[in-house]
Amino acid sequence: MTNYETVVGLEVHMQINTKSKVFCECSTQFGAEPNANTCVICTSQPGAIPILNKKAVEAIVKTGIALDFNINKQCTFARKQYFYPDIPKNYQITQSEPPLCSDGKLTISVGGKEKVVNITRIHLEEDAGKLVHEIGSRKLDYSLLDLNRASVGLMELVTEPELSSPEEVLGFLTELKDIVEYLDTSKCSMEEGKMRCDVNVSIRPVGQKELGARVEIKNMNSISSIRDAITYEVERQKEVLESNGKLVQETRLWEAEEGVTKSMRSKEEALDYRYFPEPDLVPFDLPDSFIEELRKQIPELPKARKARFIKDYGLSEYDADYLTSTRLVADYYEGALNYSKDKDKKVLAKPLSNWISTELSAKLNAAKVCISESPVSSQNLTKLISLVLNGTISGKIAKTVFEEMYVKSSDPETIVKEKGLSQISDESAITKMCEESIAESPKAVAEFRSGKERAVAAIIGLIMKKSKGQANPQIVNRILLEKLKSIKKSCQR
Ligand code: ADP
Ligand code: MG
Ligand code: ZN
Repeated sequence: MTNYETVVGLEVHMQINTKSKVFCECSTQFGAEPNANTCVICTSQPGAIPILNKKAVEAIVKTGIALDFNINKQCTFARKQYFYPDIPKNYQITQSEPPLCSDGKLTISVGGKEKVVNITRIHLEEDAGKLVHEIGSRKLDYSLLDLNRASVGLMELVTEPELSSPEEVLGFLTELKDIVEYLDTSKCSMEEGKMRCDVNVSIRPVGQKELGARVEIKNMNSISSIRDAITYEVERQKEVLESNGKLVQETRLWEAEEGVTKSMRSKEEALDYRYFPEPDLVPFDLPDSFIEELRKQIPELPKARKARFIKDYGLSEYDADYLTSTRLVADYYEGALNYSKDKDKKVLAKPLSNWISTELSAKLNAAKVCISESPVSSQNLTKLISLVLNGTISGKIAKTVFEEMYVKSSDPETIVKEKGLSQISDESAITKMCEESIAESPKAVAEFRSGKERAVAAIIGLIMKKSKGQANPQIVNRILLEKLKSIKKSCQR
């Protein structure tokens, strides 16, 4: 049997994150009432003239700069003609040659290996509306048209056919999503249809230069179906070749329920889009200053930020990965650190990371609140951790204070003062509690004397209960052990 290798190229459509659509002033808000966000332009009324949204161009140029693209200054538009009811005007306005961005690249790492994936281009186009064939679970015997999505700006990114496994494809999409979300140029949410993919798949015998005939699987909108569709398609193509069949270039659809791809149209049936220049949008050149200004706005990207977190704050790879997973989490973390003096940052770095990835994220996830809206401000979280580090409260009390901070958005110092939660570090008070507890725990003391060191835990528990959890654990430990050892000695004598 011949050995084959998989070749995949992606066309990724990402909705551009702008307040208004690309050729009119309608809102791009997701989840609005059907057709609430429409006007004469995006419903394609005769005579309506598109007006280009500058912010959409900015988003594409920014994305291009972050992915090492050459930015082309010329901006011209064309009409791509096709008839489908989701575009009433019967054409889509799309940027024509050259695209705004050409020859970019993205480094992915899969299975511990790095690989540079070349990206052919990114260009601007408008999204289509949406046909609705069912309401909830009720199938309709007619179709409804929702034009809220019509004319929302899209950036279409096309890769070279260089990806060679489902894992690399997923690695590419995840890395791309991370960067684009950092740039805030698209929300990239596949669930909301803000990121969709056409996946081109072919195979060829290992060692062969020429590419095999490609199958384009249209409109994929979940990571798991992309993986499953590629895996299925590769197997199908192998079977065709192994049984001496011939593969042809065609467009196929992924049928998720059956787990198969089905032919939609072959190359011969491919649409002729009859492109021609869009007469309502005059070609123009982007000024150099416009591009340079955007270059300055590129934030530190996830990989660089992660490396810096490890180097500057002494975090582990795992913690740094979590904290830089989104820009908002990273901003919160650094915002919190910046409330402390430089020399304290390294001490605070790890506990702060723990609080964010456990207590805070659990609360925020449960309430579906974004970290930028956190009721516990980054400054207050730093204050809370500092109270633990300087011994004012114990780690356990800190959790109680945190609960209160989350509900009331209040500051930890006030809560500790008002509720009298400060740690008891007064040695004579602790000595008294230790003596009382020893007297009340004859069984544990006897066990300790017979060599069971672990028996102290029960006595510590009692002391903590007496102090309502406020006794300083280090001092309790020290005094209790001194007392117990002196009992042991006096008995041995
Ligand atoms: P079209 O509009 O016809 O789909 P595009 O140029 O927009 O053409 O996209 C073609 C996509 O197909 C690119 O992502 C490219 O990498 C990919 N591709 C081209 N040839 C092959 C092939 N033989 N196998 C896999 N992918 C391919
Ligand atoms: Mg295509
Ligand atoms: Zn509109």
